[in-house]
Amino acid sequence: MQYYSTNGKINNKSLKEAVIEGLAEDNGLFMPNEIKPLPDSFFENIDQLSFQEIAFEVAKQFFGGDIPSDDLKEIVFDTLSFDCPVVEVENNIWSLELFHGPTAAFKDVGGRFMARMLRYFLQNENRKVNVLAATSGDTGSAVANGFLGVDGIHVYVLYPKGKVSEIQEKQFTTLGQNITAIEVDGTFDDCQKLVKQAFLDEELNSKLLLTSANSINVARFLPQAFYYFHAYAQLKKQGKLNGELVVAVPSGNFGNLTAGLFAQKMGLPISQFIAANNENDVVYQYLQEGDYHPKQSVETIANAMDVGNPSNFARILDLYKEQWNVIRSNIAGARFSDAQINSTINSVYAETGYILDPHGACGYQALKDQLKNDQPGIFLETAHPAKFIETVEAVIGDGKVTIPDRLLQFMKGEKQSIELARSFDLFSQLLTNEH
Ligand SMILES: *Cc1c(COP(=O)(O)O)cnc(C)c1O
Repeated sequence: MQYYSTNGKINNKSLKEAVIEGLAEDNGLFMPNEIKPLPDSFFENIDQLSFQEIAFEVAKQFFGGDIPSDDLKEIVFDTLSFDCPVVEVENNIWSLELFHGPTAAFKDVGGRFMARMLRYFLQNENRKVNVLAATSGDTGSAVANGFLGVDGIHVYVLYPKGKVSEIQEKQFTTLGQNITAIEVDGTFDDCQKLVKQAFLDEELNSKLLLTSANSINVARFLPQAFYYFHAYAQLKKQGKLNGELVVAVPSGNFGNLTAGLFAQKMGLPISQFIAANNENDVVYQYLQEGDYHPKQSVETIANAMDVGNPSNFARILDLYKEQWNVIRSNIAGARFSDAQINSTINSVYAETGYILDPHGACGYQALKDQLKNDQPGIFLETAHPAKFIETVEAVIGDGKVTIPDRLLQFMKGEKQSIELARSFDLFSQLLTNEH
């Protein structure tokens, strides 16, 4: 499969090139030339397949022409060492729990897959690869943990100082080895800007081999399609698909939602998506009015969605040839203030006993507000509530959230990070000096 850039100046890149380059040289995002639909027979029997088997079939449509089947199978099976179950929260509303991986957020799927794919492509490469990841909280940990201890790869995690939760921060600042955490005096958008600038800087790229582990990387975002199919398979197996399926996706940089759109293009019967935003609502505004105005991000309690200029929006525009009417007929919008998020966490816990995290709460509430009678709806529960324990317990009461052992282990480590002002020159120096 070949890849082109959403900015239109680059095309015919191989998968390997697209994965290693991350961002296209014209500053666009890579897109596969083709989205191959899966056959009807696959959907008829999907409820008989395991998560890993489903994911392998999906992966072959994208990567099958570039990676031998056995190798691809190993990458997929090894990535998905945990399940993504759907759990009924109330009548017709299911939570797709994406937090059962090592760092307790959905980004484990893409992070682990990308680490394995990059390792596969670099097995005969002598040069050291530097992976740059800007994080609003959960990418850093998923990517760092996916790459921890992998020879020939060094990971730099850039995160906004003081704007991630303690557990999130510990998950990528305590690892040591080939992981360096950089604490940026700014917002997530500033971190993302530094990373993008690094890819476009000729001098830096002549010295270092750089790649991106953000959802701009196709190896990060395409695997996120896997669990949409698996969610569908689980509801089919339980005989719950009586109406047209609606899927609500808590969204920040829009990688997760874009992967869902790819799944739909491959034939997965989803009738409607809802993009659930916090107060960072530039896509919500676009869906209402047709104009797209990136903004500075504002801080919210759903911090992993504090993105004012979502990268993957370029992919959505490309997918639908910028036709606003087509986009808004497929993707409805929703936006929630911190007060609304708190109120949702509170009422869902009181009425059902289910504990939402602040991101999942946006997805849940979007379904609750927009589902029509008897329509089945799934929202993506993108992180374990323990990752935001201060926020969640402030609403539902102390001691209510059980912290999984794997998160407790991270809490024991010692934080190590490098502080950085919002300056590309200083960032560039830091990267070059480390070598
Ligand atoms: C990253 C993240 C999101 C946003 O996902 P995007 O793919 O960037 O839209 C939502 N919730 C959590 C918990 C996250 O970590």
